[in-house]
Amino acid sequence: MNIILLGPPGAGKGTQARKLVDERNMVQLSTGDMLRAARTSGTAMGKMVAAVMDRGDLVTDEIVIGLIREQLESDEGKGGYIFDGFPRTLAQADALGNLLIEMGENLDCVIEMQVDDDALVDRITARATCADCGEVYNDNTKPIPADGKCTNCGSSKIQRRADDNEESLRTRLMAYYKQTSPLIGYYYAKGDLKSVDGLASMDDVAASIAKALG
Ligand code: AMP
Repeated sequence: MNIILLGPPGAGKGTQARKLVDERNMVQLSTGDMLRAARTSGTAMGKMVAAVMDRGDLVTDEIVIGLIREQLESDEGKGGYIFDGFPRTLAQADALGNLLIEMGENLDCVIEMQVDDDALVDRITARATCADCGEVYNDNTKPIPADGKCTNCGSSKIQRRADDNEESLRTRLMAYYKQTSPLIGYYYAKGDLKSVDGLASMDDVAASIAKALG
């Protein structure tokens, strides 16, 4: 089964993707994580996208489609992909459709995670993530442990993202509404769309996603 998690920044796509990986043995493909990894390892592409990401704008379709293509080609055969943060434009959606056809795979479901904008600002400005395993913390609901060590993997590298500030968030939200939200209509028309309430508790959102996936 191949699915897309669609929603604005802070909707909880990464958190739910990680749950699906644990519970269903699926493979999470997050273009945001891939781009951050390219920055950390200092590749030419990583350097090129750094300022764009920090500002909150989208990097080019060519770069992200290339990243997804590489992953799909290297993982081929495993199946069960969760696309997290990809596609974000209509061109990316078309490219993903073509890539899946080339691989003989289907897109089974697109889950739209609905949340209101005020909640997003609160969630994102309170968010921190483990750089090693991706565990997500929140100052209000799941604070960073007093010893600073990740409860999942023990790493001391719990960090706030450079783009998790109010100014970048506004740009990211604008990018979402201008460039990504048309995908809701696109996938609805294709018959692949299911919507869930992303404001519910983490477990309730997971239950709604499980129901949507059947
Ligand atoms: P995320 O971790 O999904 O919030 O992505 C962080 C940042 O990476 C975004 O604000 C964009 O700058 C960039 N990015 C991630 N995925 C994409 C994508 N599919 N298309 C364009 N830019 C992306």
